[in-house]
Amino acid sequence: MPRSRGSRRRPWGEEHPELDVERARGGIQRVEGGPSGQWHVRRVSTSAKSYRCPGCSQEIPAGTAHVVAWAADGLFGPEAALADRRHWHPGCWAARTTRR
Ligand SMILES: [Zn+2]
Repeated sequence: MPRSRGSRRRPWGEEHPELDVERARGGIQRVEGGPSGQWHVRRVSTSAKSYRCPGCSQEIPAGTAHVVAWAADGLFGPEAALADRRHWHPGCWAARTTRR
């Protein structure tokens, strides 16, 4: 077996480390309906990066619990919708569906 070399480099690199990390944390995912259609919503307890919340245009600092949402009925299919997912403050996400 010439493969056991000790170092485990994958030649193609890590393609979506962020997604894998979210999956590994076991975030709860469900579908929520709202004024703008159905959304997949996942609550994550922490994050490796910071994001810009589309609800308030403020930053979600790294390591903060927040909501990840993407369209369940995306025009370009689930893959594209997932790639276009948004990160929200939990309060901003809730306000989006209850207000207005
Ligand atoms: Zn926000």
